[in-house]
This record gives sequence, C-alpha cells and structure tokens, in this order.
Amino acid sequence: MKIRRITTKPISIPLKQVFRTALRTVNTLENVLVRVETDTEFTGFGSAAPTAVITGETAGSIAHAVAHIGAALEGMDLAGHELVFQRLNSCMVANNSAKAAVDMALYDLLAKSMGIPLYRLLGGNIQSLKTDITISLDSIDAMVEASSARVAEGFTILKIKVGNNPELDIERLEQIYRAVGSEVSMRIDANQGWQPKEAVYVGREIARRGIPVELMEQPVAAHRYRDLAYVRKRLMLPVYGDESVFSGTEALELIRIGAVDGINIKLMKCGGIYNARKIAAIAEAAGIPCMIGSMMECHLSVTAAAHLAAATSAISIMDLDAPLFCSTNPVAGGISYHGEEIVLPDEPGLGISGLKGS
Ligand code: MG
Repeated sequence: MKIRRITTKPISIPLKQVFRTALRTVNTLENVLVRVETDTEFTGFGSAAPTAVITGETAGSIAHAVAHIGAALEGMDLAGHELVFQRLNSCMVANNSAKAAVDMALYDLLAKSMGIPLYRLLGGNIQSLKTDITISLDSIDAMVEASSARVAEGFTILKIKVGNNPELDIERLEQIYRAVGSEVSMRIDANQGWQPKEAVYVGREIARRGIPVELMEQPVAAHRYRDLAYVRKRLMLPVYGDESVFSGTEALELIRIGAVDGINIKLMKCGGIYNARKIAAIAEAAGIPCMIGSMMECHLSVTAAAHLAAATSAISIMDLDAPLFCSTNPVAGGISYHGEEIVLPDEPGLGISGLKGS
C-alpha cells in the first residue's frame, strides 16, 4: 500500500461553553483534518489541533507542515512502515501536531488494511475506557456549579483547572469538595500557573484541610524542570508533567532528576502514536504511570488517543473529554460517549467512516 497524496482541510467547531485554563481562553475549536490517500481503496484520516501557546503551531502552520510531510512521504510503501514513521519524524523538526495527524492516519491505514480496529493492531483487548471531565477555570461559584452539574450527569472524576491565584485556587478546591463530596475523585491542573513555592503551599494546604486530590498536573513553567522537581520532592501528592513532556528524551530527563510521578501523554505534543508508545515504554520502565490527554481536539484525534490508551497498559489515567465540549462532530464513526464511559468502535482502523461534508 503506497502513499499517494496527503491533503488537509481546516474546520472550526463552536464550543458548547467557553473553555478556560491558566494559559488561554477558547470559544471555538479549530482543527485541521488530514486525509492520506493510497494506491488502494483505503484512505486514512487524521486531525491536528493548533495550540500555539503549547506547541507553537497554528492552523496555517499545520497545513504547511502537512504539505511538507506529504512531499516527503509520497510514494513510500506502508509495508515497511517503520521507515515511513522514521521519515515522518525526521523530515522536519518540531511541528508535532501536524506529524500527529499524519501518524494517526497512517495507523488508521495499517489497521484498515488488516481489517481490524486499531486498538487490536496495537495489542489491546479493552473496548471501553473511563474519562474524567474538565472543569474550566472560572469564579468559585461557577466552578462549584459546573462540578455539581457534571457529577449529577454521572461523572465521578473531575479534572479541575487552577493556577491563577493560590489562595483562590485553594478556596475553589475546598468549595468544590464540599459540594461534590468524597465519592468524586479530583485531579488538579495548574497549566504552569504557579511559582514553585506557591505550588508547594497549595499542595500542603489542601492536604492540611483534608481535601482529597488525586494528582497535581504541571504546577510550574514547562521548561523549569528543577522547579518541578522542587515541588514534587516537597509534596506527598503525585506531580504529573504535561507541557514539560513532548518527547521520550524529555520524559527520560524528568524521570532522571526525580521531577515527576507521572506523565501526561498527548498525541499533539509528541507527534502521534509511534512516539507516544516510546514515552509510555520509558515511563513503564521507570515504574511511573501515564495519563493520556488531549488539546481542544475533535472526535477524530481523540479516537486515535483512545485506541492507543486501550492498548497500552502503562496508560492508566484517561483525560479524553474534549469532544464533549464540541457542539458538533465533524466525522462519522469513531468513539462514542456514554456518560463517563468511552466506547471504541468495532470497525477497522480508527473506525472513522468519513469526514462529514466532504
Ligand atoms: Mg494539562
């Protein structure tokens, strides 16, 4: 099966509600869909999310990068797919979300050509995953109301965005905990919003108040590895790296200096499933767990992440709720949501039968 042509199509989906973190505010999801055509009847689908404040990529840069990648891969035979993935990663530096979209389309093709769902190709046998649900950064009242509403809908794990003011963040967590009770698990994500001492203060204060938090994600600036280690060494609470970890090289370094208890893998940061599996293997060897997360991504790329998670034992925590924030789904097929449960499709490949409106 030879790669014939790789094309892109930008899409924009209004969100059901505004999404706010310590880094950014989003009203509309912008993604770039990717199609990989071959010399067979099979077409592979992928999608990239431009997240300029994290990966440096925009919708325009992704379209240009995919065109460059397409020129590098055209004519290559997927029968030797190790070489194809090596070229995908070496034909240009950075541009990881663009690479991720092409990577997942190639995996889609490999599994389609074998007539099996991707999670089975990757060695998985689980068809259902449990995701957390994100509570956007907002006023205390709005966050308490959103948390209660999500728990009433049946979600049992909240991923709470914090990181703009330590005192206010502690109050947010205390009020949310009082509203939802101890049956609900709370994960917190500061998106780099704290100074190291602030992060230690928040971690210790919530412990002192008896607020049960499962883990703290990316408390400090992405590139400040020593600060991440400083925070981790002073807290019992597990500290996860997200924006700090794009590649296996970074995962190795963070583990070496004792900066993380876990790693949040996102296809848009690492460049796709091929590289994500290497990070998961490094984490597994170090004896630390992985979370799988996403940017503001549509059903298509989150479906790819779900296939990976269902087949990777090192990935034990799912944060794959982004499509629930979208007002529409740009693809037919893929994962479906039943409350907090994600069900993977039975169809071959990613299980995406087509792009709507094309
Ligand atoms: Mg995060």
